[in-house]
Amino acid sequence: MTKSKTNTDQSEWTVQDSSLLYGLERWGNDYFSINKAGNICVSPQGKDKEGLDLTHLLNELKGRNLTPPLLLRFDDILEDRLKKLQKAFEDALKKYEYNNIYQGVFPIKCNQQRHVVEKILAIGQKWHFGLEAGSKAELLIALSLINDPKALLICNGYKDERYIETAILARQLGRQPIIVIEQPDEVQRIIKANKILGAAPLIGIRAKLSSQSSGRWGTSIGEKSKFGLSIPEILQAVNQLNSEGLLNELTLLHFHIGSQINDIAVLKNALQEASQIYVELNRLGAPMGFLDVGGGLGVDYDGSRTASPASTNYSLQNYANDVVATIQECCESNNVKVPRLISESGRALSSHFSVLVFNILGTTSISTEIPPINGNECLSVKNLRDTLNTLQDICNHTSIDISKLQEAWNDALKFKEDALAAFRLGFIDLTTRATAEQLTWACAKKIIAHIPNNSLIPEDLRVLNATLGETYYANISIFRSAPDTWAIEQLFPMMPIHRLNEKPNQLGHFADLTCDSDGKLERFIDNGKVKSLLELHSLKTNEDYLIGMFLGGAYQEIMGNLHNLFGSTNAVHIRLTKDGKYKLDHVVKGNTKGDVLHAVEYDSEQLLERLRMASELAIQKGTLKINDAQRLIEHIEVSLRKSTYLQE
Ligand SMILES: *Cc1c(COP(=O)(O)O)cnc(C)c1O
Repeated sequence: MTKSKTNTDQSEWTVQDSSLLYGLERWGNDYFSINKAGNICVSPQGKDKEGLDLTHLLNELKGRNLTPPLLLRFDDILEDRLKKLQKAFEDALKKYEYNNIYQGVFPIKCNQQRHVVEKILAIGQKWHFGLEAGSKAELLIALSLINDPKALLICNGYKDERYIETAILARQLGRQPIIVIEQPDEVQRIIKANKILGAAPLIGIRAKLSSQSSGRWGTSIGEKSKFGLSIPEILQAVNQLNSEGLLNELTLLHFHIGSQINDIAVLKNALQEASQIYVELNRLGAPMGFLDVGGGLGVDYDGSRTASPASTNYSLQNYANDVVATIQECCESNNVKVPRLISESGRALSSHFSVLVFNILGTTSISTEIPPINGNECLSVKNLRDTLNTLQDICNHTSIDISKLQEAWNDALKFKEDALAAFRLGFIDLTTRATAEQLTWACAKKIIAHIPNNSLIPEDLRVLNATLGETYYANISIFRSAPDTWAIEQLFPMMPIHRLNEKPNQLGHFADLTCDSDGKLERFIDNGKVKSLLELHSLKTNEDYLIGMFLGGAYQEIMGNLHNLFGSTNAVHIRLTKDGKYKLDHVVKGNTKGDVLHAVEYDSEQLLERLRMASELAIQKGTLKINDAQRLIEHIEVSLRKSTYLQE
């Protein structure tokens, strides 16, 4: 590409081009857009309303000493998501004239942060939105935060006697806990607790469905799943409850077919099966009344609207319609009153509201410059130069023969191997080895620039692109802030939050701060596919380059770990006010180095004291000046109180 061409491209590049390139409109759900200044704007009420310029916000947060990496939580988006979920179900109920209500619960495990759970309960109050607890600690949260007697508290997870007794007593406190039997032996524990307390809990049963699921969490259902009762076990539980006079408390049927259901067909099968079980339980004499369809409502991370792992082939409304229609059809044809519908949608509710913004510390790339000929060069270097010339010839043709490119690349790799072998044996020096490596990458660059778009590209040529990509050093730990990108190769939309009126002139991936070779982000959304390099801009001196990771509000925070002792980032709760301005509701301080050291049993004071003693010794020996000793101690004292990330 000539220089003048680049310049015209540059002037023609618009924010619409950026929007298309990063798929913003496809995954952004109208919450995110790009303004004329080329910055991402957040508009919780939809993009027609005045949005908040993220870069502007980041600048002002900097003034408050809140620097990236930062987790921005837009509580208005959380509110909008909850409203949309509620509305989708209400519309479906109306459409099918369903003769009961929808009453959702939030699965706490998705995001346990107090401000988040409190917010959801406050927003959901008018619909008596409740909580789902999957452990004893989560039960504690749910018990103390819910004070609406009509809100449901679904008790999932493994339950010992104390868990069950607590739920029974909470019922007397005026709450509505429903103990969902997930393991056959929980029936006996419920019976025992009932005898001890002389009071019964509301009871639900989680069914192990046989419908085949797909995707990452496909094993959440089927005979081998970890949770739920098989049909024979359900029958046995009903008999046991009946003989203890507890069948009257059996009110709920639950199933959960795994998170991020990609394909609506999977859900339909499960709904049909569960509805039949619901009807049968009714026939067996249980009063029933609730059908809880669990979680699994997916998020369209890549905006492709397909059944690919990062997407869903259905909308929120499709989901609600299918739940309502399928259950209604089965109940009505069996003359059973339709149940109150519960969903435990976590991911769908809490993904959109948080945006992780991180800064780039620097970049590196492999040098592809062609080194000048240096006297009489060794054979492998000469061969590499010949290969480069051959490539030049191949690329001069109008139609390029892929097999010839492949052949030349194989040669280049062979000659590079020869050069490395010669180096190991001491035949060539460091400079010659560098020349050989650079020539190899120059060959790679030539190939990449001329690979036709339309043909099937052999794998080893395709990955060349990624090898030559620029590495952007990101001021985060992916293990802390985006663990699922590593653990389950999850994709999140990522893009610069500013300079979007400038054409990105680099292809790059991110490397994080950890000393772990897995600490990288090199899989990016590509409308149903995955690409290994993201279009990015070159860094400018004295200007932060800020990247946003979107849709990460579910699971990432709590699954994140302390690998390399990188702790939580600062988090800020932001609310938009009417005039396009904003208000900080909460600032949740991230971990300091003192905090993370404490987590692995170090006492900051003790560490400091040891260093003080060591510096006294060094002062006495004369290797350290008093001034410098003080400086050292001061650095450490300050550092212990500060974030685990790099700061200017
Ligand atoms: C994890 C879980 C959920 C939440 O699933 P999402 O896919 O996040 O909606 C709901 N119910 C149960 C029982 C779960 O284990």
